[in-house]
Amino acid sequence: MEILVQRKHEIRLDVLPPLALYVHIPWCVRKCPYCDFNSHERSGTLPEQDYVQKLVSDVESLLPSVWGRRIVSVFIGGGTPSLFSPEAIDTLLSAVRARLVLEPDAEVTLEANPGTVEAARFRGFRDAGVNRISVGVQSFDDAMLAKLGRIHGGHEARRAVDAALDAVGNVNLDLMYGLPGQTPEMARADIAQGIATGVPHLSAYQLTIEPNTVFWSKRPVGLPEHDQSADMQSMGEDILRTNGFEHYETSAFAKPGMRCRHNLNYWEFGDYLGIGAGAHGKVSFPDRVTRHERTKQPRDYLANANTLSSEKTVPPKELPFEFMLNALRLIEGFEVTLFGERTGLPLATVQKRLEQAEGRGLLERDWKRIRPTVRGRLFLNELLELFLP
Ligand code: SF4
Repeated sequence: MEILVQRKHEIRLDVLPPLALYVHIPWCVRKCPYCDFNSHERSGTLPEQDYVQKLVSDVESLLPSVWGRRIVSVFIGGGTPSLFSPEAIDTLLSAVRARLVLEPDAEVTLEANPGTVEAARFRGFRDAGVNRISVGVQSFDDAMLAKLGRIHGGHEARRAVDAALDAVGNVNLDLMYGLPGQTPEMARADIAQGIATGVPHLSAYQLTIEPNTVFWSKRPVGLPEHDQSADMQSMGEDILRTNGFEHYETSAFAKPGMRCRHNLNYWEFGDYLGIGAGAHGKVSFPDRVTRHERTKQPRDYLANANTLSSEKTVPPKELPFEFMLNALRLIEGFEVTLFGERTGLPLATVQKRLEQAEGRGLLERDWKRIRPTVRGRLFLNELLELFLP
């Protein structure tokens, strides 16, 4: 019988994973009716200075746990971080560099939304050290954007992507499909326009209606049938592949050499510090893996002297599921040695489960890699359930 229950200190990590930094900036111009992120409608002037100060003290509080480790990537997400001025981002990144050692070629991404940026602002972010921009376009169709409650139209979306490309070149564009009233032709047109912008990275997410959103509680909308959305998904994958994009994660597509290093670190179960309202982090030690979380409400976050809302050691029995939850999103799966490196557990711990998954046609493996099959990707939840503690 397979044994997954282990005591707290029964893991051993010989090498610590790469370490990244996530920065959360929680404000948006307006809350989108489908959004369940920790994002809040801005009212009045943003408390940029106070917030940056809090972010810096978050970094300082984390220093003892990551002494001597280098940061491989920074991701400034939200919310709409492009609402912050380039000066505030410059102050933040300078303070981060003064306290943590960033790899010389560290990827530094900032999320931006059309309607909140112009070319000069993007250049300002670049001068502050941002070298990758992720633009939340969602669609180029004005009618779809209006239904989604976005503050921009298709024209602003194209302008924002062009300006981001001019400023940094390394740009991701977020699109959504399965939108209310969207036909496959409309989804095809969005993907084609996305490709035509010339971005080297594109993420395509299916719209789902989550609890705690306006679409869930106050303004329900009809979405395309499941089969139709699935067709849009496979059509999008085909078009992107034909146009030279590698499909490397459930929703992510990149030109060769342009994969998002920050997100890859999540999917490969790497470590990351989380700073800012509601940010999560994961830090490994030779004998344990820990998670931390910060105060969620921006007002409380700014008011509290201590912004840490929880910190815990992940029970070793939960690590296989946590690892698979991330790594099995990767189309090429993971190297067999990675499981042990990141969880500190021998692969034998999940041997029976791997065999079950193989038996059901959800997983395939050779001496080097373990990867989900096409069926495994389609029924990812069924595959992941096998690794539940
Ligand atoms: S812009 Fe993005 S983060 Fe802000 S409310 Fe809309 S979906 Fe949420």
